[in-house]
Amino acid sequence: MADCLFCRIVRREIPAQIVHEDEQALVFKDISPQAPTHLLIVPKKHLGSLLDASDDDRALLGHLQRVACLLAGAGRMSSFRLVTNNGKGAGQSVDHLHYHLLAGRPMQWPPG
Ligand code: 5GP
Ligand code: ZN
Repeated sequence: MADCLFCRIVRREIPAQIVHEDEQALVFKDISPQAPTHLLIVPKKHLGSLLDASDDDRALLGHLQRVACLLAGAGRMSSFRLVTNNGKGAGQSVDHLHYHLLAGRPMQWPPG
């Protein structure tokens, strides 16, 4: 999408600290980290949120979780949180599906 922030990062129109890229996904550091490790795992395909994914996206959704596990392993994260905010009421502020990978500090539950 032309004016979507994360699509623009995928197209390298906006700089980001990229830590992983493959055919389907891009991972970069969150600009406002909420933990010592705070990565955003983003599909290159524009999906507004998890609710916009269809059955055709099953493999893509699985891939994003595998990428999270690979990065957690590479970063020796024994504990981490993988979360997606779906909708404004849940805290979603960028309308392009993304998973937050957070690690490096104790996590509270519920997240609030
Ligand atoms: P959400 O609030 O939609 O769940 O998460 C969006 C995340 O994107 C936030 O954690 C926010 O800090 C991050 N973010 C917003 N704008 C930018 C940006 O321009 N670059 C990067 N790297 N992260 C961003
Ligand atoms: Zn997008």
